[in-house]
Amino acid sequence: MIGGGMVLCPECDTDLDIVEDEVDEGEIVSCPECGTDFEVVTTNPLELNRVSEAEDDDEEEAGEDGD
Ligand SMILES: [Zn+2]
Repeated sequence: MIGGGMVLCPECDTDLDIVEDEVDEGEIVSCPECGTDFEVVTTNPLELNRVSEAEDDDEEEAGEDGD
């Protein structure tokens, strides 16, 4: 099958057992192996962003000053 691959934990390469059709953007998923939390950034393709509890997190995004 094309595109129906499994999602691996970026941290420990464990199969996160995520189905793209069953997650929404912004949803938080946890790795059962290393316990790291990831936020679903996009679902197509499925992209995960590690959720860090540390406030010391500098993001490399084009600063768009909204509001
Ligand atoms: Zn993991």
